Amino acid sequence: MKDIERAVAYRSVLEVCNSTAGKEGAGFSILRPFPTRTLSYVDPFLLLDHMQPVPLKPGEAKGAPDHPHRGFETVTYLLEGAMEHRDSAGNFGRLTAGDVQWMTAGAGVVHSEMPGPELLQHGGVLHGFQIWVDLPAALKMTAPRYQDLSSAKIPVAVSADGLTEVKVIAGESLGIKAPTRTHTPITFLHIKMAAGAVFTQPLGAGQNALVYIVSGTARFGPGAETVEGTGKMVRFALEDRSLYLENAGADDRLDLLVLAGQPLNQPVARYGPFVMNSEAEIEQALVDFRSGRMGQIAGA
Ligand code: FE
Repeated sequence: MKDIERAVAYRSVLEVCNSTAGKEGAGFSILRPFPTRTLSYVDPFLLLDHMQPVPLKPGEAKGAPDHPHRGFETVTYLLEGAMEHRDSAGNFGRLTAGDVQWMTAGAGVVHSEMPGPELLQHGGVLHGFQIWVDLPAALKMTAPRYQDLSSAKIPVAVSADGLTEVKVIAGESLGIKAPTRTHTPITFLHIKMAAGAVFTQPLGAGQNALVYIVSGTARFGPGAETVEGTGKMVRFALEDRSLYLENAGADDRLDLLVLAGQPLNQPVARYGPFVMNSEAEIEQALVDFRSGRMGQIAGA
């Protein structure tokens, strides 16, 4: 009996979600598993956007010009292309393939997220992700913080059988820890699995987990049904068990993101780029932004 229990001791699937397709910023194409009409957030994650790798002609690349944020963190992870970031705290950052930017908006910043000039001039592909991570009530008005994590600084772990490669963007996998500082415990992994690969990722009982399929076909339990295709997202029960991941495609590579974090169990009041705990705090954010208290980008 004990062996049987052990054999099924993986996180159970709560729900398989589809993404909505749309445009964001000045008009770049995204797939968005949440927020949608049926799923507002996955505590502590408020948003997941997958910027689509559509080929762009010269002059076509679009970004998100100057806009504010308050009350949470934005995490940008690029797979292809180049983006430039400027903000009201005077930061400038350039992201290329494999780089991550982890920005704590906290009390408020105004920033711009634009395609790199060479991408704009010559065209190409912009492919990546943006994730919004909620901040606990006590940290929503914390000072803004900015971490530029170049690909070289982000460790990549390989499983003993060599079939699974894990880029450890936050948290820990295969005994390798990410250097990323997070305000609450967060696990963010980009996992690539060769044909036939099976991988288990331990997660503490405290971490709420989801998996987003970038490409390929996966199975989330031994013998479980397969989940196929770009844009599918799976939510897991909050159990003190490991995630089970299997490449269930014929000879494809499976490419997925694992996101897990401690749920904050707090009210979520959201309005565009502001995410607070109450409507009154949203009103205050609007007042503060309109009166210039979130600053502006130098030279803007
Ligand atoms: Fe932004």
